[in-house]
Amino acid sequence: MMLKKEGAIINGANAHLWAELLVNQTEIPSLQVLENLLKVAALLQKYKDTLFKGAPVTITSGWRSFNYNKKIGGAPQSYHVKGMALDFTVSGISPAEVQKILDPVHKGGLEYAPTWTHIDIRPENTRWLKPQS
Ligand SMILES: [Zn+2]
Repeated sequence: MMLKKEGAIINGANAHLWAELLVNQTEIPSLQVLENLLKVAALLQKYKDTLFKGAPVTITSGWRSFNYNKKIGGAPQSYHVKGMALDFTVSGISPAEVQKILDPVHKGGLEYAPTWTHIDIRPENTRWLKPQS
């Protein structure tokens, strides 16, 4: 994984843009946050390439500054603030299906949100908002 001049993370043919990882943000993340973002983005890239068979992934929330997270009513201890969490959708695969695919393999946090999937790289395995049926 390396950085291109335009700011894209290049990893094979499928690249996640910094713009996606920093969606809606106006502040500069710390180096620690950037390192965390690279880790969680690499993990999502791996899921995309293998489990999602390369289907396009859209990141709907990546890093959130403390102020932004507060403004949108995010949990104060949100892993998004640490750059350790991503919310995303996968083109052609419903969130429920994505969550079913990830449940047995993902180490960390996995939220069964109705219209997106949240993953984070906290040390322990956690699942919340269990599937509707
Ligand atoms: Zn989230």
